[in-house]
Amino acid sequence: MTPDIKTLDVALGVTIPTRHARGRAARLGPALDTVLSAHNYPPQIEQILAEALVLTSLLGSLLKDPNGQLTLQAQTKEGIIDLMVCDYKGGELRGYVRHDPARLADARTPSLESLFGHGYLAITFDQPATDERYQGIVPLEGESLAEAAQSYLAQSEQIPSIVRLAAHKGDDGHWLGGGLLFQHLPEGELGRERLHTRMDHPDWDHVAALAGTTSEAELTDPLLSLEDLVWRLFHEEPEVRTLGTVPLTRGCRCDPDYVRSVISRFPEEERAEMAGEDGVIRVNCEFCSTSFPIHFG
Ligand SMILES: [Zn+2]
Repeated sequence: MTPDIKTLDVALGVTIPTRHARGRAARLGPALDTVLSAHNYPPQIEQILAEALVLTSLLGSLLKDPNGQLTLQAQTKEGIIDLMVCDYKGGELRGYVRHDPARLADARTPSLESLFGHGYLAITFDQPATDERYQGIVPLEGESLAEAAQSYLAQSEQIPSIVRLAAHKGDDGHWLGGGLLFQHLPEGELGRERLHTRMDHPDWDHVAALAGTTSEAELTDPLLSLEDLVWRLFHEEPEVRTLGTVPLTRGCRCDPDYVRSVISRFPEEERAEMAGEDGVIRVNCEFCSTSFPIHFG
């Protein structure tokens, strides 16, 4: 059976007004294949990047500004991975991981801690329309990336949150990923100074318990729409509202023409120093795992 196209590469916004909860659900298919196929990473690295891209979709779809950008960065010193970067802008996703292949080969089933060592998770929300830029940085802690994200949201944003992430490569060689993010916003609005946050509010316990029952199979089932998934979890609530969907796709903003125009303003001698032996300047894009030749003269 061919899955309904709307069940893949999409994020859905949800609110549960009586519980003061908001949520996002996301599912990725072809977009994950496109990002991962550019890199040719080992399976363990593909796995963590796939989960990170699902998380990036969930957080990115919280942005109200259509030109807003969300960047997720995990950075470490002594881990197998020293840098993982994913970002989201207008439904476009991209990501890359810098890692040590020799050390990865020695680790059989690497834990989050062995992958990242003592690392940090930084998340930046950039909303040019309202000139809002916010970055939080917390230690990368937990058994999984979902747990690390939950502790980020609790520590940095002071918002009780539950995050579920799942991703796997099917027997057909295609990736499927899915996730849920629910948050408790008893004051309704974001952006005001929060004097006190109750992490144990009964409304929130209820939402977190229900969201926590989602299985990895449900999160990544291409035949189960996100609407049906949310309905399955919260059908006993008096009111559950959906806020519409955002289509997700792989996209990079590297622009050889722009780079060429910047480099063209450099003096000729400096350009000559940047060029290789063949006289061509090469500019790398880590997200695309490729370099662009820039010719002059
Ligand atoms: Zn690129």
